[in-house]
Amino acid sequence: MVSLLLVKNVNVAAALKEEDRVKLTEEIKKRRCVRCKEEKPEHEFCKTPSNFFPGHRSIICTSCLEKMVKQDVLGEVDRLCRYLDIPFDINKWT
Ligand SMILES: [Zn+2]
Repeated sequence: MVSLLLVKNVNVAAALKEEDRVKLTEEIKKRRCVRCKEEKPEHEFCKTPSNFFPGHRSIICTSCLEKMVKQDVLGEVDRLCRYLDIPFDINKWT
């Protein structure tokens, strides 16, 4: 009786783990933008070397960032780069 209960518990634990793993994978693949609240694939989010962002990706999607930053105002682009902790590369914006 005890061993049967033990097996049952192990199965539940294994099932939970599998579920968590799938959930985790889906969370990595898709992210919700904190600005437009839309779920978008990971590549819609800027890569950043900063440890402050989960999965080293921006929490705001690229289209929102583009809307937020006036690209002809270099000061704002610079600020964005600081936010994402990436070096400011003027060539990327021309
Ligand atoms: Zn967005």
